[in-house]
Amino acid sequence: MRDIVTLQCVTCKKRNYSTTKNKKKTPARLEIKKFCRACRAHKVHRETR
Ligand SMILES: [Zn+2]
Repeated sequence: MRDIVTLQCVTCKKRNYSTTKNKKKTPARLEIKKFCRACRAHKVHRETR
């Protein structure tokens, strides 16, 4: 019941990470701060499809 989602850097729009999430527990779009290689800094990454 966990779905694979892709995390996209909101600054450079690169898709850097994929993770899983529980859609029942987290119905809204995920937003996680992660390190972006393209920006070379920690940026907010948002769920995309
Ligand atoms: Zn970035």
